Amino acid sequence: MHTIENVVGQGMCVGCGACSVVTGGRVPVKIGRRGSYEASLAAVQSADVRRASRVCPFSDESRNEDEISQPLYGKDQPHDPLLGHHQFTFAGRIADDGVLEGSSSGGMTSWTAAQLLARGLVDGVIHVGAASPGQGELFTYQVSYNLADIQLKRKSAYYSTTMADALAQIRGDGRSYAVIGVPCFIRAARLVGEEDPVLGKQLKYHLGLVCGHLKSQWFAESMAWQAGVKPDALESVDFRVKAKHRSSNDYDFGAKGTDDSYLSTKPTQALVGGNWGHGMFQLNACNYCDDIFAETADVVFGDAWLPEYKSDSRGTNVVISRNENLNTIFAEGQAQGILRLDELPADRVAASQAGNFRHRRIGLAVRLADDIREGKSVPLKRIAPGIEGVSARRLDLIRLRRKMSEKSLQSFESAKMENNINVFLKTMLPLVRKYRNVEFGGAHKRILTDYKSRLKWALASLRR
Ligand SMILES: Cc1cc2nc3c(=O)[nH]c(=O)nc-3n(C[C@H](O)[C@H](O)[C@H](O)COP(=O)(O)OP(=O)(O)OC[C@H]3O[C@@H](n4cnc5c(N)ncnc54)[C@H](O)[C@@H]3O)c2cc1C
Ligand code: SF4
Ligand code: SF4
Repeated sequence: MHTIENVVGQGMCVGCGACSVVTGGRVPVKIGRRGSYEASLAAVQSADVRRASRVCPFSDESRNEDEISQPLYGKDQPHDPLLGHHQFTFAGRIADDGVLEGSSSGGMTSWTAAQLLARGLVDGVIHVGAASPGQGELFTYQVSYNLADIQLKRKSAYYSTTMADALAQIRGDGRSYAVIGVPCFIRAARLVGEEDPVLGKQLKYHLGLVCGHLKSQWFAESMAWQAGVKPDALESVDFRVKAKHRSSNDYDFGAKGTDDSYLSTKPTQALVGGNWGHGMFQLNACNYCDDIFAETADVVFGDAWLPEYKSDSRGTNVVISRNENLNTIFAEGQAQGILRLDELPADRVAASQAGNFRHRRIGLAVRLADDIREGKSVPLKRIAPGIEGVSARRLDLIRLRRKMSEKSLQSFESAKMENNINVFLKTMLPLVRKYRNVEFGGAHKRILTDYKSRLKWALASLRR
């Protein structure tokens, strides 16, 4: 059985902090060597380790997404192997373009959190926002108790954080909360709620974010360094600056130095690491994840990466709601003209994350098989390990991507030590070229094969 000892020992910890919360802080979760939060089990008593293992989203001792979501939503909601349970699936955005500018995508996540607060359904929202200057980090989990604070903490933080302190801070304060997080954090929050009835009562709404993978804090530093702001002078970043007249997935990255009065921006795709397909700075935990649509959350928000929405730079969310109260809130928002919503069939919602599914279904099966062959312990996933039926090109891409995640962390560590970003760039650029060759070389070959077979068919029909 893959337990929390294996998770921590093999560097698979995502830093959620659930283990810390249920042990009253006796399992410390701190920033590790590679810019991401990690738990440490050194000197932890065995009763605490077992309790921690029951809430760890990568341990076989914890309940998985199906086991958690079935009693919550299974009674009256269909289940889809890609989406999980779903009651209402749609694409949408808030109608006020001025407000929308300050959100990553369609602004539905912060709008929904604000509605829960405004309607008195919760007293506070636990979510990630910019840290105060001098805190040593750019983003942290924080608690918002008013609408202005929710508005201040918008946009996606592709940045390692932990819920440990925020959950410990609110525990037992007699108030109710909505928690926002990526799928494994939401699973962890659900597990904490099951293990600790005090927090279980307080966490009333779970709002998920669709997730491709999580990045080490070094991702922000690397992108900022390439945009002209060195790590030791970095004050803040904006991972999603919307670019008018470009498609919604072609956004800019912004960085501000301590002495700068403005945000220096560069197109994300032009920076090394900006292509999510390359998996740079990805946490190792994400190599073992099969939950894209936060299957244990009451609602999940993502980007509508679909042709009919992508061309609009303002951004549009895909949303899966699993909660009647939230469905009513969305319907009222639409009726009042505050939201613009289009119902979307489940298969279109799944299609919006096609690349994600390749990485977390086919890719996961391959990575599990590779690890098992190397004698490593792996968590029990809902996807069986195996490489059967996977094309040679896809195998190459999956393995290369994994290597790029690892190399990006190694080479950025050296770049920081030598105070020279070129150390990172010189390592990664040849790998980027190699990835492109495998990705598009395969396409060229397929086109050539297709062309040859068409030619053969045409010649054969001429002869007839
Ligand atoms: C690590 C990560 C990976 C993602 N990968 C994908 C993907 O592959 N495909 C996809 O479609 N969408 C992905 N998303 C979601 C996407 O980036 C947007 O966050 C989502 O579409 C919501 O946009 P919005 O305009 O509704 O949110 P906004 O109105 O901008 O509000 C965002 C809300 O989320 C909170 N928040 C931001 N980052 C975090 C965080 N790390 N942890 C907890 N709360 C946070 C903020 O505090 C705020 O309340 C990812 C998000 C994250 C954080
Ligand atoms: S993944 Fe979360 S619960 Fe598991 S060890 Fe890491 S911090 Fe603790
Ligand atoms: S990819 Fe999975 S493991 Fe990684 S942060 Fe997202 S939900 Fe968590």
